[in-house]
Amino acid sequence: QGTTPATAKDLFVVSSPNVEYTDDFIKTKYTYRTTAVSQGPNGNYVAVPKETLYDFKVDRKIPKVGVMLVGWGGNNGSTVTAGIIANKRGLVWDTKDGTQGANYYGSVIMGSTTKLGTDSATGNDINIPFHDLLPMVHPNDLVVGGWDISSLDLASAMDRACVLQPSLKSLVRKELATMKPLPSIYYPDFIAANQEERADNLIPGTKASNAHVEQIRKDIQNFKAENSLDKVIVQWTANTERFADILEGVNDTADNLLKSIENGHDEVSPSTVFAVACIQEGVPFINGSPQNTFVPGAIQLAERHNAFIGGDDFKSGQTKMKSALVDFLISAGIKLTSIASYNHLGNNDGMNLSSQRQFRSKEISKSNVVDDMVAANTVLYKEGEHPDHTVVIKYMPAVGDDKRALDEYYAEIFLGGHQTISIFNVCEDSLLASPLIIDLVLVAEMMTRIQWKTHADEADKFAGFHSVLSILSYMLKAPMTPTGTPVINALAKQRAALTNIFRACVGLEPENDMTLEHKLF
Ligand code: NAD
Repeated sequence: QGTTPATAKDLFVVSSPNVEYTDDFIKTKYTYRTTAVSQGPNGNYVAVPKETLYDFKVDRKIPKVGVMLVGWGGNNGSTVTAGIIANKRGLVWDTKDGTQGANYYGSVIMGSTTKLGTDSATGNDINIPFHDLLPMVHPNDLVVGGWDISSLDLASAMDRACVLQPSLKSLVRKELATMKPLPSIYYPDFIAANQEERADNLIPGTKASNAHVEQIRKDIQNFKAENSLDKVIVQWTANTERFADILEGVNDTADNLLKSIENGHDEVSPSTVFAVACIQEGVPFINGSPQNTFVPGAIQLAERHNAFIGGDDFKSGQTKMKSALVDFLISAGIKLTSIASYNHLGNNDGMNLSSQRQFRSKEISKSNVVDDMVAANTVLYKEGEHPDHTVVIKYMPAVGDDKRALDEYYAEIFLGGHQTISIFNVCEDSLLASPLIIDLVLVAEMMTRIQWKTHADEADKFAGFHSVLSILSYMLKAPMTPTGTPVINALAKQRAALTNIFRACVGLEPENDMTLEHKLF
């Protein structure tokens, strides 16, 4: 029996011969059960249960973590920073509806629970906070910093964002006023011309260069040293850029991309320069905007350095609803035939997206979100058949950060009937995105402390997960996966992957919802 007692900070301990707790690690032997399918000559399938034995090793030591945001002075950057301070200090403030306390609502890690198992005495479910499944960092302990092309301190940035209540702002203002974004890189061709006015905090040079990569790496090193951090995670929450053209010899391979940065090639975006700097620095980099930061050369470079990358585009409002609702409709056997999505928003993100090339990035990232669900249902859809899907985004200054998302789902039901579902979703954009920024940091950090090997491997040949962190998909609109592997957009599947991978790391079976114990007696 390989268990040692849970420490005070462990909410639970797994008692199993396959799970061992040491002071430093949780070690598990895990049997991964899947079904291998092949097709016979008659077109029928043969399904064979398959077992793979893995060893997982989870580092139990919770590090001191810093998060550096690119676009720190934006709506998301200022809101998430104020939100962490409010939670850290347990703030309570007045609103017209009464007092409001700080919380992490909207964070799947901090705000949701997951079933641990069934109470052996009563048969009831025992649910625990998601955060307690593994030894995760607490967001109150994060140190926040970052870059912005706008020089405003975070208190002024918070005022500019028009997101938070005045009573809350007054409680965090003093602390935020001391926070100043580091100068950043600005290549005007990549974001909308209407952003130029705020670009007053710049590292010299308007094209990619080795000097830019070096400066960003130095900024990360300094931030780490100044705050005595064990680890840094970097996230892009800066403006949406236009797509970069994928060009042979320019950004198609790691070496070509590095050469293009050295030569100041026009098609290398600021976000790709940040990604390269983080990859070389061995710091996870997550892209919260829709553009193709991770050109093939950047992905190859990450793989070469075993560095973690994740993206693209926070999934906060309309798309989150879409990936839940379409999953429900199609798995209910209802034939969705069209989705019309209209958005209007009035924040700086909306102003940037009013420019065609930046809108196009968003349109692409919003467009493919139902593909896997449609392709999976070969009863409703013939090969190549797809619901009509259109996405419109308009800039409407009056509504500020309270984005309106209007969606019509039109579906074919029994015997030619129709079902029409209209949704009017008012998304307080930055208040939805901020908890996702936190989740992305917490999960990405956790993944840096999980290692695996197959049983057949030699004693201590553990490795990390693949560089492309598809486990972050739940929080991302256009999830990146390792090249050649399928993209999962269905929200429930994304959450199940996150839950069950975490469960596997402590030697627990996937949560399967069969509850046979309540059906067979
Ligand atoms: P914002 O415009 O308020 O903030 C972006 C910040 O980035 C600005 O302060 C700007 O000065 C800065 N910036 C631009 N280029 C930069 C660079 N090269 N280096 C450093 N800073 C730079 O936008 P936001 O509402 O905070 O959203 C940020 C991003 O997140 C946008 O791309 C948006 O599309 C994406 N996003 C947001 C949501 C959401 O808020 N719900 C959802 C999905 C995606």
